[in-house]
Amino acid sequence: MFMTIKVKNILVSEIKCSNCEACCCSSEVMIISDTGVPEQHIYVDVYGNETMLRLDDGWCSALDRNTLLCSIYENRPWICREFEMGSNECINERVEKM
Ligand code: SF4
Ligand code: SF4
Repeated sequence: MFMTIKVKNILVSEIKCSNCEACCCSSEVMIISDTGVPEQHIYVDVYGNETMLRLDDGWCSALDRNTLLCSIYENRPWICREFEMGSNECINERVEKM
């Protein structure tokens, strides 16, 4: 039987980054491998742990605020590469932040 599931008035099959507001780019992103993230976008805590720097608006500093696209796409951290559009984590981010 064909089933459709709606999440906040949108079908799961219609969940796309292009109809999102970069919801996952305001979460903490740990940098656990060297993918060439430019230094100015890296926050280092007192223990030496590296995460993507977030600005006062909550979003990652590498997010282009005009296009809501990643400005360092080729060098984005591993976690950003693994974060899957349409996954449960993605849906949770959208429900929480949009
Ligand atoms: S992966 Fe999901 S939460 Fe992140 S921008 Fe795309 S649709 Fe939005
Ligand atoms: S590095 Fe790019 S994809 Fe990752 S959180 Fe920042 S803007 Fe989003």
